[in-house]
Amino acid sequence: MPDTDEIRSKARIIAAVRLKREVLEGVIRQTDLHALVAKYARVSLFTDNQAQAVRLREQIKSAMRKKYFPAAEASGYKSAGPVLESLGKPGNPSLSGPSLRFLTKYKKANLRWFAAEIETGFKTLSGEVQAAFARAQRDGIGRRTLLKQLTDSTKEEMAALAKKRRLLARVNREYAKAESTGKLRLIREARKARAKARAAVNRVTTALGRFENKVQGAARDAVRREAQRAQLAAYRQSGYRVYTWVTVNGSAACPDCSSLHGETRSIRDWHGMQPGDGHTYCGDSCMCELAPEDFCRDNEQITGPINPYLEL
Ligand SMILES: [Zn+2]
Ligand SMILES: [Zn+2]
Repeated sequence: MPDTDEIRSKARIIAAVRLKREVLEGVIRQTDLHALVAKYARVSLFTDNQAQAVRLREQIKSAMRKKYFPAAEASGYKSAGPVLESLGKPGNPSLSGPSLRFLTKYKKANLRWFAAEIETGFKTLSGEVQAAFARAQRDGIGRRTLLKQLTDSTKEEMAALAKKRRLLARVNREYAKAESTGKLRLIREARKARAKARAAVNRVTTALGRFENKVQGAARDAVRREAQRAQLAAYRQSGYRVYTWVTVNGSAACPDCSSLHGETRSIRDWHGMQPGDGHTYCGDSCMCELAPEDFCRDNEQITGPINPYLEL
């Protein structure tokens, strides 16, 4: 029989994993960012109002800075809190000195990276739209007709995409349920449904749809990194320098992440090799955790990857 402390600490890690998942799903569901992105694309592509385009781009960045990054940061502290408490440290250490700098410097770079991603995505988008205009001209289709076609097809696609994302969330929960039964046949079926739902989300056919996916992806990635960094800063402030990799995604975790489960290194040695840094097969969609070594050493219960959709 595992003792109750072990069960509790496992529950804490699972709670941290779920919190991260919820924050990321929250970013995807946001309609304000989505509306800003769509408007920005429309104004900069189809009007001559460049001043408004610049303003909109600033608004997108400022939404990230003022709303999404602080939410990510808060979730990072929140998920570190219970783990720190169970290790006998203050659960909500206020950052100062090197730990504060560790986070602040990163935040600035993260925002710059996000802005650069929007720029790159926009360049691709305007190239695609210009090509569509040239094609339309060749085929004798008027500018106004083409604009309407582009707008309608994008609207349709965005509605379909929202529906597909909801389906994926449901399929993910069903997968976690199947996994908890331990029945191979159920797990296999659920995994198939999940792969199909995921492929559907990635299938985007309009240029604006691709742009929207690119910005959403960048926002999700930036927020995930911000949350992870805040969590590590909180651990760091409490004196932890050595971390153990906890793999997330249940039996669907990629082979790289699965083999990293339980690996322990100093924070310096994790540099550039943290979850989502791109060294694993799952790339920047990795949701694995780095937890203080002490926590994992005393915690024999986390024997395999955690499913972030697991209900407690
Ligand atoms: Zn992976
Ligand atoms: Zn991973």
